[in-house]
Amino acid sequence: MATPQHHTSAQGPVPGNPYGAAGGYGQAPAPAWNHGTVPGGWGAPAAANQAPRSCRACGGQSAEDFKVRSHVGVLIMMKFEHLNGPFCRACGIAVVRQMTTRTLCLGWWGPLSLVIFNPFTLVWNLLAYRKFSKLPPSAPAPGRTHLDTGPAVLRRPQAYVTLIPIAWAVWIISQALTHSS
Ligand SMILES: [Zn+2]
Repeated sequence: MATPQHHTSAQGPVPGNPYGAAGGYGQAPAPAWNHGTVPGGWGAPAAANQAPRSCRACGGQSAEDFKVRSHVGVLIMMKFEHLNGPFCRACGIAVVRQMTTRTLCLGWWGPLSLVIFNPFTLVWNLLAYRKFSKLPPSAPAPGRTHLDTGPAVLRRPQAYVTLIPIAWAVWIISQALTHSS
């Protein structure tokens, strides 16, 4: 009679060590975000700085950001006007011509304007003209046009109003010289 074989050692299934050899918490897995770089991370800001500026009047490329000024001075009333860029070559020259003509016409008629502010404005616009005229010509954005450059400043009759204060100044100086001698 066979002795019944008891399974005395009732071994249940060995509970697997969930934290065992599989190496759970012992080895910290390398975080995925640690390696791998942000694509195009460093290139983007530099590219943005080099983006060409477009003209605020016509949308054309290769514009220069430079302010154009005009001055109005009558007795004690003074008005300082300016237009900020960026402007392309054609629009920049157009704005300089228009605002310089206005300055030559209306800027001389107050004491401080005559001596300080109008000469400053004219020199400033001369610099602006030189900046804009060095730019390469550019086409306006589709559906838009350049500002009208019009004739040169010295071909505009209003600019010759400036001869009046100059003539007056010459007369004052000549009178002073005549009476002092
Ligand atoms: Zn333009």
